[in-house]
Amino acid sequence: MNDILPSQTPAWRYLEEQARQLFEQYGIEEIRTPIVESTDLFKRSIGEVTDIVEKEMYTFEDRNGDSLTLRPEGTASVVRACEEHGMLYNQTQRLWYAGPMFRHERPQKGRYRQFHQIGVECFGFPGPDIDAELIVMTFRLWQKLGLDQQVTLQINSLGTAASRQAYRSALTAYLSDFKDQLDEDSLRRLETNPLRILDTKDPKTRAVLKEAPVFSEYLDDVSRQHFDELCGLLTSSGVPFEVNPALVRGLDYYGLTVFEWVTDTLGAQGTICAGGRYDGLVEQLGGKPTPAVGFAMGVERLVLLLETHGCLPSSLLDRLDFFIAASGEGAQAFAFDVACQLRSSQHSAKVIMNFGGGSLKTQMKRADKSGATYALVIGEAEVAARSVTLKYLRTDKPQKSQSLTEFLSGLGRLM
Ligand code: ATP
Ligand code: MG
Repeated sequence: MNDILPSQTPAWRYLEEQARQLFEQYGIEEIRTPIVESTDLFKRSIGEVTDIVEKEMYTFEDRNGDSLTLRPEGTASVVRACEEHGMLYNQTQRLWYAGPMFRHERPQKGRYRQFHQIGVECFGFPGPDIDAELIVMTFRLWQKLGLDQQVTLQINSLGTAASRQAYRSALTAYLSDFKDQLDEDSLRRLETNPLRILDTKDPKTRAVLKEAPVFSEYLDDVSRQHFDELCGLLTSSGVPFEVNPALVRGLDYYGLTVFEWVTDTLGAQGTICAGGRYDGLVEQLGGKPTPAVGFAMGVERLVLLLETHGCLPSSLLDRLDFFIAASGEGAQAFAFDVACQLRSSQHSAKVIMNFGGGSLKTQMKRADKSGATYALVIGEAEVAARSVTLKYLRTDKPQKSQSLTEFLSGLGRLM
């Protein structure tokens, strides 16, 4: 779990702000849900035999003996909230969220135990049009951020429940003949969650999979049509994509469309954004059948990508504008007043005052170290004349004394 330090927060805020502005353009509204939920919610949604539920959740009993879990992802909470507040009955929803998620994973670059996601969930739209819109929207975000050359889109269809059932049987039948060649995890999954075997990293299992039946041959007409329309819409929107038949995702609720945006410039943890359709989940959690689709992006990985490719605007590094130094009888009180007027007449001005006294020489050293562009010096003469002395800290322009009123009205030229 990481501290996000002042040197990093501007990049985080930049990303969050760009995403928020984009979502607003698409009429997507923000939702905020609690960080803890009933353990049962995640078991029922993500699936009992997924990595997340089997070994990654932070689960504890509260003082009432209820089992609670720090949320490992956002979708289940959003569905729970929508149901609880009757937001899905006879209406559609387009929602976004941002915040920390928790998974007890093996820590490595790009994989943390507290990480942050920005996600979108849409309810009540059955067609591939919304799937396409969400994907096009994420593509526009990469364009806005200057990352579109660094990422590629992979898509796949996991079919309707009926297609999945048919494919699962075929895959299980095929793999059962090679039990002695499967890795331990895959062998276990053969009974519980055979589709997940498709994205194993084990070389021997991968070799067995080469000849395995392929999902696309088991898609029913509904699934095939949904996928073809999605591909058509992406093509006409100019979003390049690759069909990856091994893309299965680690959460059980997905069906039909699944997608991932991946980069090969971050090492092993290359998925920066992932999502898909989950038409069965609302009903599974006790609601009426409701078509749904969403995605989540990994903030840490995106920030890393922005840094790696120099995509952070230089204005993010904008430093302090003014450092106010004050010394002598009445100077500190006048300096308070100057700082206050300065901040209210120029809202973008970043101003700090010298605190803790010290000689003017010491204060000027602090001013230099602060990174400020200007120092405002206030001594007894300035107090008496209600004036300020402006020093240029980064150029050798001569200093200038002027009345406070004059200084404030000329501020625009300094900023
Ligand atoms: P991965 O294949 O990388 O484990 P996942 O399938 O577990 O991803 P999702 O639950 O779909 O991931 O989460 C969406 C995105 O959130 C991921 O693509 C990734 O960018 C980010 N993410 C997931 N887990 C972590 C983590 N432990 N640390 C940092 N980012 C993460
Ligand atoms: Mg994972």
